[in-house]
Amino acid sequence: MASEQRKAQWRESRRRARARARDEHRCISCLQVRLAADRVTCERCGERANAAKRRRMRRLASSALARASAFGIDVGLLLRNLRLSPEQRFAEAERSLRNARTLARIAHARTP
Ligand SMILES: [Zn+2]
Repeated sequence: MASEQRKAQWRESRRRARARARDEHRCISCLQVRLAADRVTCERCGERANAAKRRRMRRLASSALARASAFGIDVGLLLRNLRLSPEQRFAEAERSLRNARTLARIAHARTP
C-alpha cells in the first residue's frame, strides 16, 4: 500500500516537472536540454522514445494473439466467449443447436 502511494507521489511530481519543463521549453524527458518551440523532446530522448515504441510494436506484432488474428482467427469472439459464465456458454450452445435444427427442418420441408 505504501509503495503504491509512493508511486503515485512520484508520478505526480514527475508530471509537475514535465509541465514546468514544457512551460520553460525544455525537454520533457531529460528536463534539461533547451528546445526549439516546435519540439517536446530533445534529439537523444526523442530517439530513445522512438526506439522504445518500435520495440513495443515489434513485441506486439510477434505476440501469439497477433499471429492468431493474422491467421484468420476471430480473437475478439474468443475473448468474448471466455468472459461468459459456464451457464451462459451452455445457453449459447443450446441456442445454436436450436437454430441449426430449425434450419434443417426448413431445408427438409423445402426439398421435394
Ligand atoms: Zn532530453
